[in-house]
Amino acid sequence: MESRMRQEPAQTARAADADIATTVAVIGAGLSGLIAARELRRQGIDVVILEAADRLGGRAFSETTPLGSRVDLGGQWIGHDHHRVTALAAELGVQKFTMHSEGLPTAIDGRRRLPLWSPSMLAFGAILVGVEALSHLGGPTRWNAVTLADALRRVPGRTPRRLLEVAALISWTADPDRYTILAMTKMIRQQGGLRTILATTGGAQEALLAEGVGALVDGLAAELGDRVRAGHRVTSITQSNGEITVDTVAGRVRAAKVIITVPPPTRRRISFVPPLSARRDALAHNTYMGSVYKAIAVYNTPFWRNRCSGEFLVLDAPGRAVFDTSPPEGPGHLCILVAGPEARALDRLDPAERRAALLGALTDYVGSEVLEPVSWHEKAWHQDEFVGGGYLALPEPGTTEGFLPVDATPVGDIHWAGTETAEHHAGYFEGAIESGNRAAAEVAAALARRT
Ligand SMILES: Cc1cc2nc3c(=O)[nH]c(=O)nc-3n(C[C@H](O)[C@H](O)[C@H](O)COP(=O)(O)OP(=O)(O)OC[C@H]3O[C@@H](n4cnc5c(N)ncnc54)[C@H](O)[C@@H]3O)c2cc1C
Repeated sequence: MESRMRQEPAQTARAADADIATTVAVIGAGLSGLIAARELRRQGIDVVILEAADRLGGRAFSETTPLGSRVDLGGQWIGHDHHRVTALAAELGVQKFTMHSEGLPTAIDGRRRLPLWSPSMLAFGAILVGVEALSHLGGPTRWNAVTLADALRRVPGRTPRRLLEVAALISWTADPDRYTILAMTKMIRQQGGLRTILATTGGAQEALLAEGVGALVDGLAAELGDRVRAGHRVTSITQSNGEITVDTVAGRVRAAKVIITVPPPTRRRISFVPPLSARRDALAHNTYMGSVYKAIAVYNTPFWRNRCSGEFLVLDAPGRAVFDTSPPEGPGHLCILVAGPEARALDRLDPAERRAALLGALTDYVGSEVLEPVSWHEKAWHQDEFVGGGYLALPEPGTTEGFLPVDATPVGDIHWAGTETAEHHAGYFEGAIESGNRAAAEVAAALARRT
């Protein structure tokens, strides 16, 4: 049995540099930065990618289990219409498989299983239909003063209220008292509707990669070779006389153009000379990263399939969603997500306590074997020093800069990418890839105009 809440060893050696001169400096080696850098390189443009962490991938992070399978501690699913990630996986020879799903998750409240036709489940379903309809109508600005917590307090009945709360936490990772109804309905519309957001088959949780999303990161990094620098946290960006100076903790980089891909709230840790306009600065200050904890319990086989589906929505604290993310050839993987304040509450427990607390509720349904996984892999994203949380940046109540997609208008020679800037599928890998391609095209066109 193994338990961890740490980052894997560096994928790329940390190296202190003398000054580097390049044409484009890409900041952040998540999927968007790696895609942007690769696209520029393919066009013959010199590029260096600067990553703060000792590993690459950002919100994509895979580990290898003792049974040889791969688990994703960050993003993992490829949605039904996520064609860019699908194409990238095919190009890199990474196997995509449909997640095992038997339909709707089993809702568990204490030791009680909630039947699909119970009054609470029917009320839950009816409210979801209402929320979906509201999101299509768009909302008045006064909804930006009403938080999800305010709205939940008005839902009659503890069980429907808790069903909605846990579903919302898992879907958006926001603190209910720090997320408004306007922000939520805009997010629903931007991400293709509630059905798409919540569904496995035909929705955003349809498929996975057998080798993990980390295999995409590795494939992209391999093509970029020594142009990727880990351990290079960018501290400041200076634009002067048509040149950009990027200062990092490991050296200075001079470039003609910069693409910044870091999540919007983490831009606060980079100083800009000259300073960004107040309007542009507001994005970093008026957004925060959601809190999310993810764990994967690994078993020799998906033994639960003889008894029940491996999908659960557990209402007792911490509220959590459980998915059967086992690869087709085994072993068994149970993936657990906890979000918002309930994810942060888990920080107070040690790994063994977390494991027992999270798996305990499942024994009545799948058997006591669930308490003895071969290995346990976990990560609290709100503790990640450089990403700061997940799944994505969220708008502070009453503000609008963080509504998706966030502004990506270039500022002089500074260009912006990152999933939050994507026109479609913002918040997902699909959006990260779209944004990386868009920023690379923007920069290549601007450089071509100079020659
Ligand atoms: C738990 C979790 C589950 C998720 N589930 C899914 C899913 O199932 N499907 C899906 O499509 N998406 C999912 N997502 C979202 C998905 O992971 C992101 O949309 C995507 O990875 C974002 O990529 P990015 O390149 O835009 O940003 P990031 O991956 O955040 O990359 C930004 C990079 O910038 C680096 N950085 C930050 N500051 C600096 C600095 N000062 N200098 C240099 N580098 C810096 C960071 O370390 C990071 O590597 C999930 C995310 C999380 C956290």
